[in-house]
Amino acid sequence: MEIRSAAVIGAGVMGSGIAAHIANAGIPVFLLDIVPQDVKDGRGNDRSVVARTAIDRMLKTEPAPFMHKRNARLVTPGNIEDDLEKLAGVDWIVEAVVENPAVKADLYARLDAVRKPGSIVSSNTSTIPLKNLVEGRGDGFARDFMITHFFNPPRYMRLLEVVAGPDTRPGAVEALSRFADTRLGKGVVRCKDRPGFIANRIGTYWIQAAINQAMDLGLTVEEADAVVGRPMGIPKTGVFGLVDLVGLDLMPYVSRSLLNTLPADDPYRAIHREPELFTRMIAEGYTGRKGKGGFYRLN
Ligand code: NAD
Repeated sequence: MEIRSAAVIGAGVMGSGIAAHIANAGIPVFLLDIVPQDVKDGRGNDRSVVARTAIDRMLKTEPAPFMHKRNARLVTPGNIEDDLEKLAGVDWIVEAVVENPAVKADLYARLDAVRKPGSIVSSNTSTIPLKNLVEGRGDGFARDFMITHFFNPPRYMRLLEVVAGPDTRPGAVEALSRFADTRLGKGVVRCKDRPGFIANRIGTYWIQAAINQAMDLGLTVEEADAVVGRPMGIPKTGVFGLVDLVGLDLMPYVSRSLLNTLPADDPYRAIHREPELFTRMIAEGYTGRKGKGGFYRLN
């Protein structure tokens, strides 16, 4: 099969970047999100407001692809409530909504009812095992479903982790991997269906370890990042800067999801701490670069 059209659901940090990257490869993309609760006009929620919000997010995340005039029109933002039936025509649907299994499950039920048979559905989940995501869905869904885990920012990070389940059609995995390699410029790594796959299983451990140490030693975020950034291969942002980029609000979901699925003797359990500091910062809008700033101020 060939991928000639796509849809991305969830126009947040990752979804907007993934849609922009696919569009820039010359593939038409629908980008659907829910109507933001806090944006209403006199007649209730307005689709044009949703579209504008999605475009604003895309521009904030990925300015460069939208300078590319030939492809700029290829991303069509929309509202999941009004535009769900548009999924009937697309070859690949990428789910990039919040890291919450219940929200993802509800969405899969809805899109499975409208998508075209044989279209590929993939999740950008950071940590949720594929077997949990397909639980309760029919065989047809499981055959067309896989995880495609992009890294942030999707345009620049070359790694793409692909996880297939026991029921996933080999032809679908092959088609998606070929497309990701040749059209999206990604280095595809096939991962087993384990909590956090490869990169986040390791990454979440060392982010937590670095945060614990910084707090225990009373270091400032600048001091901690100066010490750990280069040895950990992230000299530009350091650990705290990386958390700002990823989004502080994602971190509690990721750690909860890992705690729910990791083996009882996994070393992450020993270093995990309840994220009270994160909870306080998130409540005040300090969700990182997508919010009012995070550990670092916005420039
Ligand atoms: P985000 O909070 O920035 O965006 C999520 C978007 O999903 C929001 O715009 C929200 O309105 C939308 N949404 C929520 N429920 C929806 C629904 N039912 N239908 C349509 N839209 C819905 O989140 P994010 O950081 O972009 O993460 C998205 C996914 O990508 C998560 O699974 C996350 O684990 C994964 N991921 C994130 C990163 C990262 O660095 N942030 C990296 C790799 C993978």
